[in-house]
Amino acid sequence: MNLFDVYSLFDVTPVRAQGCRIWDDKGQEYLDLYGGHAVISVGHTHPRYVAALKDQLDRIGFYSNSVKNPLQEQLAKELGEASGYTDYSLFLDNSGAESNENALKLASFQTGRDRIVAFHRSFHGRTSGAVAATDNPKIVSPFNANHKVTFCDLNDAAGVEKELAKGDVAGVIIEGIQGCGGIHVPSDAFMLELEALCHKYGALLLLDEVQSGYGRTGRFFAHQWAGVRPDVITMGKGIANGFPCGGILIAPHIRAAKGMLGTTFGGNYLAMAAALAVLAIMRDEDLVGNALRVGEYLKDNIPASPLINEVRGRGLMLGMEFNCPIADIRRKLLFEKHIFTGVAGSNMIRLLAPLCLSQDEAATFITALKEVL
Ligand code: PLP
Repeated sequence: MNLFDVYSLFDVTPVRAQGCRIWDDKGQEYLDLYGGHAVISVGHTHPRYVAALKDQLDRIGFYSNSVKNPLQEQLAKELGEASGYTDYSLFLDNSGAESNENALKLASFQTGRDRIVAFHRSFHGRTSGAVAATDNPKIVSPFNANHKVTFCDLNDAAGVEKELAKGDVAGVIIEGIQGCGGIHVPSDAFMLELEALCHKYGALLLLDEVQSGYGRTGRFFAHQWAGVRPDVITMGKGIANGFPCGGILIAPHIRAAKGMLGTTFGGNYLAMAAALAVLAIMRDEDLVGNALRVGEYLKDNIPASPLINEVRGRGLMLGMEFNCPIADIRRKLLFEKHIFTGVAGSNMIRLLAPLCLSQDEAATFITALKEVL
């Protein structure tokens, strides 16, 4: 049997990793400024993280959501404190797309409406509603396209109000910072307007923090830079440092009903052990502060170059927009300088390093980039 051939692969086979370093099967060391697509938050194979998972596996690996699981309650408490959302509720699932699917569903349950407003250049995942709210026709099948989704321009409050005023919008879904669409940061003023408009027209504000959340931008959630309080906040990626896990934070005015959401694997013991270890490490090692400091250092030191139009983003969610295709530059960074980076579209290198990236490691990248350019 062959693998279903949907991924473009680099000819690299990682076999070991630690902190922000990866080693391949030939013993070559790499610096990781990609974090496995923004997933590695506390660093690869952090000893506390590894110990927590091994210890949990020795106790109990899985049961179902039909019995009590105190680890879920502990995570809800600690996540409330870490994020500042102590009065919200937590629903646990397995991925970013599933989190967004649940958020869209909740907005529709809560309002009785069936249309969603999303934004141009958005990415919300591959499942049915999430991909329908994703502005990329290439990954939307005719089946997905039956959802009622209207796309507005980012930072265009008047455009959003025109749609909300029609009275049938259940929710507005927006990324804290647009990731796959090319690191576009919504303005703080726009976020505040969006919050006010959602209140005015009875739609829910759904914040997709799957990529921009969990400390990546130097705040726990990117939307906290603007000071808004969404109705639903969606999470994934960094929440468990690579153990599959997702979740949504739900505002107190949204009431649960038995059976309205559910999942087999969501909130399982291993995911909870991983997520609790991540929060403890983030707290003890001040990784949100580190993401801010090292992210600013990176942004300030990316060399001025006639090839680079703009550097966008916050903390360790940065995009360098080139005025030419970057495939060659990225390949040189990987195969000549042994540095992993991400990409958005054809002209942007996206940096999504683990939150523990040191300033020395950032400096290594800057030197390598200068040499490659
Ligand atoms: N939302 C955003 C903003 C993302 O960047 C992603 C993944 O890249 C997702 C949702 C989907 O997450 P997952 O791949 O875990 O389903």
